[in-house]
Amino acid sequence: MLAVILDVVSRAGEAPTIGGAPATVLVSVREQDLNADFGQGRGIGWIDGVETPISISAVTDLISNGGQQKVVITDEGRIIALGSPERCFTAAQRRAIQLRDGTCIIPGRKIPAGMTEIHHVIPHSEGGPTHTDNGVCLCWWHHRYLAASGWAIRMVRGAVQIMAPPWLETGARKWRNETKSCPRMTDAAERENG
Ligand SMILES: [Zn+2]
Repeated sequence: MLAVILDVVSRAGEAPTIGGAPATVLVSVREQDLNADFGQGRGIGWIDGVETPISISAVTDLISNGGQQKVVITDEGRIIALGSPERCFTAAQRRAIQLRDGTCIIPGRKIPAGMTEIHHVIPHSEGGPTHTDNGVCLCWWHHRYLAASGWAIRMVRGAVQIMAPPWLETGARKWRNETKSCPRMTDAAERENG
């Protein structure tokens, strides 16, 4: 029986940074629970410093939110695998993306950029790089329910484009550049008005 410890980067804006790096939450899970039931709502995990276990779906939420660094420990207690935290955007990348996007790029309630989450446009599991060209700001809700929301996101030469769902678009669906950054919107308005 192997143990798995997930070193999850906590949500931006929810926890202080330590030396510029986001604070991390240590989550430990038994490997069979993670492999068998990942995302299926069975099994439990433990957060460092909290006695009460959390559900596997809560563990999944933490990982999809912040990324993970996977550590594997044998029954005897030897660390046999130490993954790199490559899925996690660095603090510097997050700030740059938050400045570029302003807030959640999907129209809706405006929350401060610092409270948004960074979404891999091409999922990390499909080879999407953890690069500013592949990361966008989304609110908590759109990060989890993007597919259900019907909105589509793509990056074109590092610039964010979004497309409304068919039920919100009167004409043909089309991609448009998107930002909620106040300086960039001011710039765009000036360009439009000549
Ligand atoms: Zn949103």
